Amino acid sequence: MRRVYLDNNATTPVAPAVFEAMKPYFLEDFGNASSIHWYGQRAKAAIEWGRERIARLLNARPNEIVFTSGGTESDNAALFGMVEASRSEKKHLITTTIEHHAVLHTAKALEKRGVRVTYVPVGPSGVVDPAAVEKAIGPDTVLISVMHANNELGTIQPLEEIGRIAREHDIYFHTDAVQSVGKIPVDVEGLGVDLLSLSAHKLHGPKGAGALYIRRGTVLRPLLYGGHHERDRRPGTENVSGIVGLGKAAELAGEHLAEEIERVGALRDRLEDGILASVPLAAVVGDKSRRLPTTTNISFDYIEGEGFVIAMDLRGVACSTGAACSSGSLEPSHVLTAIGRSREQARSSIRFSLGHFNTPQDIDDTLEVLPRVVEQLRSLSPHYKKDAVSAQPAGANVKALAER
Ligand code: PLP
Repeated sequence: MRRVYLDNNATTPVAPAVFEAMKPYFLEDFGNASSIHWYGQRAKAAIEWGRERIARLLNARPNEIVFTSGGTESDNAALFGMVEASRSEKKHLITTTIEHHAVLHTAKALEKRGVRVTYVPVGPSGVVDPAAVEKAIGPDTVLISVMHANNELGTIQPLEEIGRIAREHDIYFHTDAVQSVGKIPVDVEGLGVDLLSLSAHKLHGPKGAGALYIRRGTVLRPLLYGGHHERDRRPGTENVSGIVGLGKAAELAGEHLAEEIERVGALRDRLEDGILASVPLAAVVGDKSRRLPTTTNISFDYIEGEGFVIAMDLRGVACSTGAACSSGSLEPSHVLTAIGRSREQARSSIRFSLGHFNTPQDIDDTLEVLPRVVEQLRSLSPHYKKDAVSAQPAGANVKALAER
C-alpha cells in the first residue's frame, strides 16, 4: 500500500541533505565544543555555522540565537525567564487561549507561583485581535506571548500590530513561531518580537533541537543551571549534530521559501477544494485568508475524528485530529473549543498538514479514499440523517453548516 503523510505539523521527515550534513558529527567530528583541542574546535565551528544560518533565516544576529532542545524548552525558557528576571513585585503575563500547551501549561505553572495571567479570547476566525491584547495590558504586565501560526488551524496572527503595541507600552514580546519558521517569512525586526521560539523537527530538521531568539539587550533568567555554554544563557553540552541539522534545514527553507509557499499552497488548496466538492457537510475551520500554506482544518459533521484518523490510516493516509501531543486524549482540542466550536464540532475536525515531500499523487490518493471513509463513518452514526444530507449537493456544505 502506498502511504501518504499529511501530518507535517506534528513532525516532518528529516531532509536527506540535512541528514548528510549531520552525519560527520556522530562519527568523525564528535568533539565537545568546549574543548580547546582540534576536535572541540571542529564542533564549535559547526555550532557557529548553524547559528549563522538560523540568524539569517530570521533576520537576526548570530549572537541573538540560543540553542535549546526544541520548541517546548524555548517556550518555557522565554516565559519563566522573562517573568523571573522582572524585578517588579506584581507580575502579569498576557497570552491567548489558542496557544500550544508548551505556552499554556507554562502560564498555568506561573499562575501557581503568583503570576497574574490573562488569556486573551479568540473568535471563530482563529486570529487574535490586537485590540484585545492591548486592552489586557496593565501596569504590571511583564510579557506578551502570542504564537505566530496556530498549529491546529494554521492561522497566522497579526504579530506586527501586537509588536507595535508591545513597544508602545514598553513590554517584552515573545512569539512561539514553531509552526511558521521555514514555512512563511519570519523576520524578527518586521514582527517586532523580543523573543521567538523555533523547533528543527517542524522544518525537516531533527527532533530534539531548537532555538530561542533573544533580542540583544534582553535579560532573562536561565531555566537551567550548569556550565557557561551559550554565553551563560543555556548550559549543557551542545547537541552539535542537531544544531547542524537545524542550520541546514534553515538554509534549505530560506533558499526555497517562495517556491515552496507556491507549490505546497497549491497542493493544500487542491486537497481542500477536492474535499469540499466531494463531501457534503464539510467546512474549513478558521480564517482562510490568513493561513499557513501547509495547513487546512476541516470539520466533517457526524464524524468522530479519532475514528476518521484510524480509518484513513488503514487506507494509507496519515492525518490528525489536532496537536500530536493531545492524541489519545478524550478531551476535544482546546484550540477549537476556545474559538467557539462545540465539543461535538471540535471532535469532528481533522487537520491535514503538508510539507516539502508531498506530491500531487498524495492529494489524488487522499481524495480517492476520503469521501468513502466519511460516508462509511456517517452511515454508522445514529444522528446522520442520510436522506436529508444526500439531497444536498456537495459544495453547498459551507452554507449549510453556517445555517445549523
Ligand atoms: N509550539 C507549537 C506551536 C508546536 O506546534 C509545537 C509542537 O507541536 C511546540 C511548540 C513544541 O515543540 P517541540 O516538539 O520541539 O517541543
